[in-house]
Amino acid sequence: MSRSAPLLRTKRELRALVGGWRTRGLSIGFVPTMGALHAGHAALIRRAASECARVVVSVFVNPLQFGPGEDYGRYPRALAADRKLCAAAGAAAVYAPSAGEMYPEGFRTHVEVEGLSQLYCGAYRPGHFRGVATVVLKLFNQVRPDRAYFGEKDFQQVALLERMALDLDVPCRIVRVPTVREADGLAMSSRNAYLSPEERAAAPTLRAALAAGAAAARRPAATPASVTAAVRRALAHGPLKLQYAAVADARTLEPARDLRGPRRLLVAAHLGRTRLIDNLALGRVG
Ligand code: AMP
Repeated sequence: MSRSAPLLRTKRELRALVGGWRTRGLSIGFVPTMGALHAGHAALIRRAASECARVVVSVFVNPLQFGPGEDYGRYPRALAADRKLCAAAGAAAVYAPSAGEMYPEGFRTHVEVEGLSQLYCGAYRPGHFRGVATVVLKLFNQVRPDRAYFGEKDFQQVALLERMALDLDVPCRIVRVPTVREADGLAMSSRNAYLSPEERAAAPTLRAALAAGAAAARRPAATPASVTAAVRRALAHGPLKLQYAAVADARTLEPARDLRGPRRLLVAAHLGRTRLIDNLALGRVG
C-alpha cells in the first residue's frame, strides 16, 4: 500500500507542526486545493517539493467561493486518495479543516480585489473571487508559507492573488505553474469527472478553439476582436457553448486593446451542466 501524507484537521495542529519546521529554519511551500487531486495538482506539489524543505497541501472545498445553484454540494471529495497522491508527490502534510474551523460563528471579514474580481469569470460568478481571495489570505495566515504554488489553469485566479499579495504586503512568493493537460489537450480539472463519455469526447474542442485564436493572433493586422471571433467560430457548431472569450494583458489581466506585448487568451464554456475554463498564451510569453 502506498503511503498517505499525515492529516491535520485544525489550525492548532497545523501551527504546531509548521511552527516546529520554522524554528528549525526549514523553508515552507504551500499548495492550496479543493481536493479530488489529479496530475495538475501533483505538478504543483512536485514543484513546491523541489524548491522548499517542507510542503503543506490544503484540501478545502471553500463554500465562500460557490454561488447559489453552483456545484458546492456535489463537488468531488476523495480525501484518502488525495493523501496518497500528496505523499507520492512529496508533500509533508495535508491540511483539511472543516468549514466550521475556517468560518466560525460570527465570521464577517472578506477580501475584495477590486476590478480584477469583476472581470471575465468574475462577471458570471459574482462573489467567487472574493471567496477565493478571502480563503487564500486566511490559509496564508495559518500556514505562513515562504512560497505558494498556483496553476495557470486558473489564470485569473493566480493574477488576482498576486495583486492581493502585493497590495496587502503578504510575505509569500506566489509561483505560477503551467497547465497540465490530458493527452488530447483537455486541461486537467476535478470537474472533468462530471462529464459524460460523449461530453468528455467533445471537451478538447475548447483547447482547439484556443489554438484557433492563437493562430488568428499571428495573422497580419490581427486584433483582440479578430482573435475572439476565431474562438467563437471554432465553437459555433459543437456542443460547447461559449460563455466568454477575452484577450488580456498576461501580467495585469487588464482587457487588451492590442496584441503588442504578452497577452493571454481566456475562455469559459458550458458543456451540458459542466462549466469549463481554459487559457493560452498569445505571442511572446508561454
Ligand atoms: P483546485 O483544486 O481546482 O481549486 O485547484 C488547486 C490548484 O491547482 C490551483 O492553483 C489550480 O490552478 C491548480 N490546478 C488545477 N488544475 C490544474 C492543471 N490542470 N494544471 C495545473 N494546475 C492546476
